[in-house]
Amino acid sequence: MIVFKYFSDIQSLISQQRQNGVSIGFIPTMGALHSGHISLIQKAKEDKQFVICSIFVNPTQFNDPKDFEKYPSTIGADISLLELAKCDALITPSVEEVYPKGGQSVKSFSFGHLETVFEGAMRPGHFAGVGKVMSILLNKIMPDKLYMGSKDYQQCLIVKDLCRQLNLDKKIDFITCPTVREPDGLAMSSRNRRLDGFQRSKVGIIYQCLVSIQNKFMLGNSVFNIVQKECIDLLINKGIKVEYLELANAHTFTPLTEFDPKVKMVILAAVWVGEVRLIDNIIIN
Ligand code: AMP
Repeated sequence: MIVFKYFSDIQSLISQQRQNGVSIGFIPTMGALHSGHISLIQKAKEDKQFVICSIFVNPTQFNDPKDFEKYPSTIGADISLLELAKCDALITPSVEEVYPKGGQSVKSFSFGHLETVFEGAMRPGHFAGVGKVMSILLNKIMPDKLYMGSKDYQQCLIVKDLCRQLNLDKKIDFITCPTVREPDGLAMSSRNRRLDGFQRSKVGIIYQCLVSIQNKFMLGNSVFNIVQKECIDLLINKGIKVEYLELANAHTFTPLTEFDPKVKMVILAAVWVGEVRLIDNIIIN
């Protein structure tokens, strides 16, 4: 794997690959890599892509400066994992490389309703920051296929919308990859490593709650707020603070109060375990 710091250098390699008729698969990340990230690399390899990963902890998407400061950095281990997964190239640009001159000239994007609900409501400015960094990365790399995880489902919808706004939706094939989980169901996340042993032993319940809601819907229970309350009580009993646990239309992100078998739906959760914020979701088709 070749490691780059500058976009101009990786762009030369991308041009060479393109001339050879090779398709470029891109996986943007913030590092502290785990098997969830690696599953995206593996999918891109299966798709016979020339696989480029980026590691950049994007300051503009952190609404909480403490969260940014505490974001884990494990670059040595990340490089080893990427090499094992046969990733072809990695770019680890500096803040100055991504946002020259403090990013004054970076265009802002709006995402309407999508950036005002759930993660958008709880983390003001977060999706504006995601829009900025992704517009820069996509313009620099111009991949054929973009791989992102449904663990961050709302982010997937935002980036798809961004691609439409940039007129890249016909050029870039957006691939949504399933959430990789620990054996107890906990969605893998870079933030999990901030949980202590006791907290870690309890958090499998988050996914179990999502599954139990899905199961109750399948058994014909159609009212969401009853199962929602049961789960919130269960989580609170475990010392887990629920920021939101909601049902929404999986395309429009309109909140729903009833299970509707005709609609693709998503159950979304954001919780606090001590100082650590975790999110998860489950799609109901
Ligand atoms: P991050 O480094 O958290 O910005 O994540 C980089 C990419 O990896 C995003 O597209 C995430 O949705 C994806 N990702 C993170 N965790 C998982 C997981 N557990 N399973 C699958 N994809 C994931």
